[in-house]
Amino acid sequence: MAARKSPAPRKPRAKKCPDCKGVGEITETVRVGSARKPRETADRQAAFCLTCFGTGTAPTD
Ligand SMILES: [Zn+2]
Repeated sequence: MAARKSPAPRKPRAKKCPDCKGVGEITETVRVGSARKPRETADRQAAFCLTCFGTGTAPTD
């Protein structure tokens, strides 16, 4: 048996943003075509996360 380390999980001060997972950026699929029939392309673009405004932390309500 290995020596037991007492687990001391640190509580994060703020929750991670669920949308960008704390990164502050999201990757969204580039869509082309008309609004009626959008087609996803293989291209991905990094986008500013609007949920946390790029902070990476979930907004508190
Ligand atoms: Zn976010």
